[in-house]
Amino acid sequence: MSNSTLSEQEKASWKKSFRNPDNPYVERSPYDTDRGNLIGIDPSRISKQDLLDLGHARSPLKSIRAKCLDCCGGSESEVRKCTALHCPSWSFRMGRNVFHAKAKRGTND
Ligand code: SF4
Repeated sequence: MSNSTLSEQEKASWKKSFRNPDNPYVERSPYDTDRGNLIGIDPSRISKQDLLDLGHARSPLKSIRAKCLDCCGGSESEVRKCTALHCPSWSFRMGRNVFHAKAKRGTND
C-alpha cells in the first residue's frame, strides 16, 4: 500500500472487514499450512496515514497502553490495579517506559 488512496468510508469499511479477500490489508497466506486463508499484510507496506486512519497508535507505548485498556474493558483504574505481573506488558501498562530515568517515580534509580 503506497500513499493514502482510500476514502475515509473505504478505510472504515476495511477496518471492519478483515475476512473480506478484497480488503487491501489482508492477503492469501503463502504458507501451505495456512491452506489459503487470509492473513494480515506486513504493516510496513501500509502508509503511515492509513495506519493512523485505521486507529493504530504512533508509538509502541501508546499501543501497549491501548491494549491494556482493551484488556480491562476501557477502565483506567483496572489497568492501574492489574496484578498480572508476568504479562509482558505489565511494566509498560501506564504508558511510560519505566526503564527510562525520566519516567521513574519513587525510586532512587
Ligand atoms: S498488563 Fe494487565 S492490563 Fe495490560 S494486557 Fe497484561 S493483563 Fe491486561
